Amino acid sequence: MTRWRYAAATDIGLVRETNQDAIFVDDSLAVVADGMGGHAAGEVASAMTIDAVYQGFLENPTVDGLSQAIEDANSAVLQEARENPNRFGMGTTVIALGLTIDEHGVSSPTLFHVGDSRAYQLRDGALRQLSDDHSVAEEWVRMGRLTPEEALTHPRRHQLTRGIGVDASVDVDIASVIAEPGDRVLLCSDGLSNELSNEVIARLASSPVPIDDAVSDLVAAARQAGGRDNISVVLVEFDEADIAAKPIKKTLSSVAPPVAEGLGVAVERSSRRRHRFTWRVWVSLAFVAAVIGGCFVVIHWYAYSSYYLANDNGQIAVYQGQPSGVLWYKPIKLFDTKLSSKDLRTGDQISLGATISEPSVEVALQVANFMHSSWEEGQTTVTTTTTAGTTTSAVTTTTVKKG
Ligand code: MG
Repeated sequence: MTRWRYAAATDIGLVRETNQDAIFVDDSLAVVADGMGGHAAGEVASAMTIDAVYQGFLENPTVDGLSQAIEDANSAVLQEARENPNRFGMGTTVIALGLTIDEHGVSSPTLFHVGDSRAYQLRDGALRQLSDDHSVAEEWVRMGRLTPEEALTHPRRHQLTRGIGVDASVDVDIASVIAEPGDRVLLCSDGLSNELSNEVIARLASSPVPIDDAVSDLVAAARQAGGRDNISVVLVEFDEADIAAKPIKKTLSSVAPPVAEGLGVAVERSSRRRHRFTWRVWVSLAFVAAVIGGCFVVIHWYAYSSYYLANDNGQIAVYQGQPSGVLWYKPIKLFDTKLSSKDLRTGDQISLGATISEPSVEVALQVANFMHSSWEEGQTTVTTTTTAGTTTSAVTTTTVKKG
């Protein structure tokens, strides 16, 4: 026989405009859900989850029953988000402590957990965290990539790795709680655990005052510390506590293995996963196609973005493109200028041999005419005039107007 007393409170805090947390507690079930999502969608997700967990546990107060209830909550939130575009992206954490009944009819406390809401066990003034946060920063702490101190301020400490309504499948941490009479278990949203240190939580939650007062003190302390998020607290105190005949600690995935269970269940679940991947695959393919298409546009633009002059069979010709080409884009000859490649000054002939790049056809044509006229200016014409049997020579310079 396991019995507990309970107290609970949820508070909007000092910053948020709505309270997206939801809580429930009675004499066999305690739940905290911390919703997320704009347009009040977080409130919907957390309320739907509390309702589904309550109903599911009511119908089947076992470990399997509560696990299934959380999976049902996940499906319900996901479907609601799909059917209501203004609720797209909504989700919630859930942490539930249920007095589950085993095959011998013994009820004992079992913890179910998804997200970063927390459970602490308090005994003789000491605090022990029962749940592992499913957040990027805390996962990295467990992997050894961050220290616990670094995780406290890491920018990804609020980014969840698991949540209700996030994915078609959900992994639920499940663990038996070994409690003794007098122990307390605190469930809370991160609006409490982010504002208060473990020492403060331990002192207030295990304070030898009625648990209603302890709950009020915890909420007040979180508000006084900043109240930057919604604050939710459920505190239970065991009067009697049985221990599960077979204590468990496991992570249960709602995704069925490829060959398992009844055919109907397996087919239904696999179709959900196919559906889950379909839109992601399409989005990914569209993204990749857009990137590749963008690359083609940029390369094509670069390949034909400039013009140049070059010698073509003794004439100055205007080309579009890069002289050596770009990938499979070869330069295009636009026209001949009818100007001889040899009627240029020596330096210009050398430049023409190496090609002369210009930003536009007009400029290229101007440069060709200028080179040619420069050559003509440098030419001297010897005009021979015969007058009355006398031959005189005069040197005149032909002036060519610059084009
Ligand atoms: Mg929160």
